[in-house]
Amino acid sequence: MDRAHSTDGSSCTPAGISGISGYELDLNRAIDLIRKSGAQLVGLQAPEGLKRALPALARHIEEETEAKVIISGDPCFGACDVDMQLCGAVDIMLHLGHAELEEGPENVIFLEARMNEDLKEVTAKAAKVLKAKKVGVTTTIQHVHKLGQALDALKEHGIQASIGPSGGRIAEAGQVLGCNYSAARSLNVEEHLFIGTGRFHPLGIALATGKRVVIADPVTGEVSEIDTDPLLRRRFAAITCAMDAKRFAVLVSKKPGQKRMELAERIKTMGQAKGLEMFLVYLDNIEPDRLLNLGAEAAVSTACPRVALDDAAKYRIPILTPPEFEIMLGERKWEDYSFDEIE
Ligand code: SF4
Repeated sequence: MDRAHSTDGSSCTPAGISGISGYELDLNRAIDLIRKSGAQLVGLQAPEGLKRALPALARHIEEETEAKVIISGDPCFGACDVDMQLCGAVDIMLHLGHAELEEGPENVIFLEARMNEDLKEVTAKAAKVLKAKKVGVTTTIQHVHKLGQALDALKEHGIQASIGPSGGRIAEAGQVLGCNYSAARSLNVEEHLFIGTGRFHPLGIALATGKRVVIADPVTGEVSEIDTDPLLRRRFAAITCAMDAKRFAVLVSKKPGQKRMELAERIKTMGQAKGLEMFLVYLDNIEPDRLLNLGAEAAVSTACPRVALDDAAKYRIPILTPPEFEIMLGERKWEDYSFDEIE
């Protein structure tokens, strides 16, 4: 998961907006756009980590413009997850914390939340752990504006670092999403350095590129190396478990940037050709109980890849990604395991 542009590099967060310290938000741009558009009703949406800031932000917008504000109370996981119902009910929607994906409604303003952490020190620490001299550097949208610091630090350590281009759903050069690693895959390098927090993105980079990945966490200052084995073991177990199932739910997301209906139809046809009972299920938020009530013995998720790969422990039935389902059917070799990505 995974985005507004600070014009002067300083924080535009008005005093009194709590829960958003450490981030820069270009509120001036948003206020300007709201005033120019003459919007009367503005929607606000943010991921859980930024939600506490929304009441104060709503108050700030109402003080600075003619508009009234309404906050989306539903969960929000990424730019793929715009609250479409609220979007249809307001003149302008401010979606905080994520960079714009290619697709999406026209009345949404994406207001990225950028973190202030310096990348130089943690990158210098990571340089001592990197073994190669040609290294690809990636990060998430929160740190992407500071990638230059990382590249400088690596250069000082004699490492030739490069970043992959933006394109498709990737808004900025060097950025990765949990569902897209094109910025890493496009590079001809020997190793990758991921700068950010959490292990999902570096796991994705390692599996998408087959290369060693070192993680530099600018928040904790820690440097570590990713090991794909535990994830691959869990996924192998899930595939094996799903082999006993006869009734498969093929999950299709209602979220605009996660909806892959064609892929779901293809998965359904593939399973039916092997004698399996396959049915499509259309959902907004994918929750364990909903699948059990449908009598599914296993599921294939065409929604956000994190549903199958990150949240698997929450479900009592195995949930596979599309490439994993192909392995289960014998249509793809385990050696050709690939991370599920959305182009
Ligand atoms: S599909 Fe998942 S990983 Fe991709 S942008 Fe949406 S929430 Fe993030």
